[in-house]
Amino acid sequence: MVENLKEKLISQAQEVSRLRSELVRLNTAILRWAGEAAGREVGPKPVAPCTGCEHSQESAQLRDKLSQLQLEVVENKGMLSELNLEVQQKTDRLAEVELRLKDCLAEKAQEEERLSRRLRDSHETIASLRAQSPPVKYVIKTVEVESSKTKQALSESQARNQHLQEQVAMQRQVLKEMEQQLQSSHQLTAQLRAQIAMYESELERAHGQMLEEMQSLEEDKNRAIEEAFARAQVEMKAVHENLAGVRTNLLTLQPALRTLTNDYNGLKRQVRGFPLLLQEALKSVKAEIGQAIEEVNSNNQELLRKYRRELQLRKKCHNELVRLKGNIRVIARVRPVTKEDGEGPEATNAVTFDADDDSIIHLLHKGKPVSFELDKVFSPRASQQDVFQEVQALITSCIDGFNVCIFAYGQTGAGKTYTMEGTPENPGINQRALQLLFSEVQEKASDWDYTITVSAAEIYNEVLRDLLGQEPQEKLEIRLCPDGSGQLYVPGLTEFRVQSVEDINKVFEFGHTNRTTEFTNLNEHSSRSHALLIVTVRGVDCSTGLRTTGKLNLVDLAGSERVGKSGAEGSRLREAQHINKSLSALGDVIAALRSRQGHVPFRNSKLTYLLQDSLSGDSKTLMVVQVSPVEKNTSETLYSLKFAERVRSVELGPGSRRAELGSWSSQEHLEWEPACQTPQPSARAHSAPGSGTTSRPGSIRRKLQCYSAKR
Ligand code: ADP
Ligand code: MG
Repeated sequence: MVENLKEKLISQAQEVSRLRSELVRLNTAILRWAGEAAGREVGPKPVAPCTGCEHSQESAQLRDKLSQLQLEVVENKGMLSELNLEVQQKTDRLAEVELRLKDCLAEKAQEEERLSRRLRDSHETIASLRAQSPPVKYVIKTVEVESSKTKQALSESQARNQHLQEQVAMQRQVLKEMEQQLQSSHQLTAQLRAQIAMYESELERAHGQMLEEMQSLEEDKNRAIEEAFARAQVEMKAVHENLAGVRTNLLTLQPALRTLTNDYNGLKRQVRGFPLLLQEALKSVKAEIGQAIEEVNSNNQELLRKYRRELQLRKKCHNELVRLKGNIRVIARVRPVTKEDGEGPEATNAVTFDADDDSIIHLLHKGKPVSFELDKVFSPRASQQDVFQEVQALITSCIDGFNVCIFAYGQTGAGKTYTMEGTPENPGINQRALQLLFSEVQEKASDWDYTITVSAAEIYNEVLRDLLGQEPQEKLEIRLCPDGSGQLYVPGLTEFRVQSVEDINKVFEFGHTNRTTEFTNLNEHSSRSHALLIVTVRGVDCSTGLRTTGKLNLVDLAGSERVGKSGAEGSRLREAQHINKSLSALGDVIAALRSRQGHVPFRNSKLTYLLQDSLSGDSKTLMVVQVSPVEKNTSETLYSLKFAERVRSVELGPGSRRAELGSWSSQEHLEWEPACQTPQPSARAHSAPGSGTTSRPGSIRRKLQCYSAKR
């Protein structure tokens, strides 16, 4: 059995080694095919036209299959190696069992031999004992005794034999199992072999397909090459034909080229001579330009000389004009549109300004544009400080002993009180003027001793009242000084000495309280009366004892609107007549002053009479014409601006002309027209809009303003 097993084992080992070599062969075959496939993947690439055809898809499928097969082969290899390992282990165990079996058999043989030897010895002893009779019994006994021993030994050896047989049976069992395992590994090997055979056939088929595909690709390629070659030949033929045409063309072009070359050479020669030509031309042009520049220069010099002469002439004219105009200036201030103006078309803005000239104001009245020129125009954007800056030179001149009058003129609600009094947060000219006087006086305190006194009065219906007195109802009179100096004074008019800003505030407060308690409707009343703030600055030069007195009259005039025309009756009519009279008188006085008439009708109204000192002589007057910007007030605005421009444009003439000027007091102040249309420097308001106006350049006029302000 052992021999049998050995033989089987050997045959199994042979089988396994055969399978192994088969496997190795298959592996090499697979590797070779894979190599070929990879080579083909690279190889057929140049045959580009075949990309995307069904063969390439098939070959890709085949390639996938191949890689799958390779994977399976690798798996099978793994399984085979596992089986090999198992067979190796079994073979080792079998060898071990064989070795043990051999040992047992050898032991058994030894034991048998030993027992048979002892049996033989015993038989011999029995035979010898039988030959000797008496002692036979004993011998037999001994033999029997010895034979029982032997029996025991025999039974032992039988037991051992039994044991060995069991072991052999066990080994046999093991062998059987191993045989079974071998059987199953045989089956597995057969399966693997079948699979390998299948893979081989598959590979063979794939290979065949690939070959076919390659063949068809090769055919395609050859066909494409042939076609391309045929096409190239046709094209080549066409090119040859073209070339022949070009050649003939070239032959005809050659004479033309020759003439062109000749032309080119001629031009080249000309170009060579060109810089010289250019230089000459440049030289002559330069000379011409130089000459022109010299001419222009001399022209410029001439123009400059003329311009300077003109400037001097203008300056002279301006100086003359300033002298003629005297110290009367008229400015306009347009208030902003307020809530009180309401809404709708009536409240739309009708006033515009000139961006380049701040002395021009345009008004759209009943759809017609009218322009006016004044000394300066303040737009609604102008602040209280801006306006004050314009008048502050006037105010300080009062310290030097000049008399100054500042009037706010305009219809009710146009901003007169705002400009003169202002609001507590944003005070107007009155308060700013007093503050300025204080600071100026303080600056001069080392050399001069100044006292500033303030009076406040109002003129209502041609009655003068003291606003700072204990009895505001009392009518005041204007009288000539009894000293025969010709000076006027108002007996009983309170003069309040102010020494600080607080004092000024007290004065204003007191004056205001007096007015409020006196009149139930202050607004209405104030619009019908002229309010005057009279500041007197008296100075004594500490070193020389020289005395100066300057008076600053700040007048918030009554509303200039033409109430009389709207059929007012009773007290309203009286008020209107008084206002009209006094404003006309003011216009007359200013006109007379500007035209330097011998007689100035100061006495025609309380206002002009009271201000006589401050309007005549070398005193300075400024009229601020207040303007409402809204549509509904354009009629009044037009009249205010006409009044302003008339005041401003009253021109001085020779004595003979005086008689030609009309009288302001003879007509309503607003409807005054000069009897004779003397040529006027700015006649815009009189001329129809758009009819050629003669306006002076703004800059020159501004220079004039500065000049008069400085004075
Ligand atoms: P008048 O004294 O001419 O009757 P007011 O000075 O009382 O007019 O002004 C009428 C209204 O317009 C007031 O409410 C005043 O505050 C306002 N107002 C006038 N001028 C200005 C201005 N420049 N800026 C702002 N508000 C103004
Ligand atoms: Mg007012």
